[in-house]
Amino acid sequence: MTTNPVNHPNNGPSGAGLRIGHGYDLHRLDELAPIGQGRPFVLGGVQIPADRGPVGHSDADALLHAVTDALLGAIGDPDIGQLFPDTDPRHESKDSAVFVEEALRRVHGCGLGIVNLDATVVCERPKIGPHREVIIANIARLLGVEIGAVNVKAKTHEGVDAIGEGLAIEVHCVVLLAGG
Ligand code: MG
Repeated sequence: MTTNPVNHPNNGPSGAGLRIGHGYDLHRLDELAPIGQGRPFVLGGVQIPADRGPVGHSDADALLHAVTDALLGAIGDPDIGQLFPDTDPRHESKDSAVFVEEALRRVHGCGLGIVNLDATVVCERPKIGPHREVIIANIARLLGVEIGAVNVKAKTHEGVDAIGEGLAIEVHCVVLLAGG
């Protein structure tokens, strides 16, 4: 649908066959609908009990959105907002796993595979730590890689700013790809 950019892996080898990608996402957190606009708190495809949930067009899974953008970024493809616009009603309440699957299909289409992925979730509450292993296992399953190739870290924002006040969740993610 889009012309490959100059640095697209399909246009030739670069960087010893290695590609790095970075993804970032942030979603506002609100009281769960119908009181507020929040959706059930889903992170990395895992539903976590919480009194507030992310606001968004799809299932608002900030971690899977950051993973998707890291994969797309590594191959120089358009980002998640361009591929899956939130103005498209087909994406309403959508399981964000489909975004990851499409990004992964594009990565594999470039003859690349995942070496490892590392993400940091910044969120005041709920506590992510107790759910970390389940989240890692689910992302590894989605990506078709060993659990050891995926890492998810969680930290708070020390009570500072909107994230620290529990009004938003933020995720940073990097992924390394290599040619097969
Ligand atoms: Mg998002």
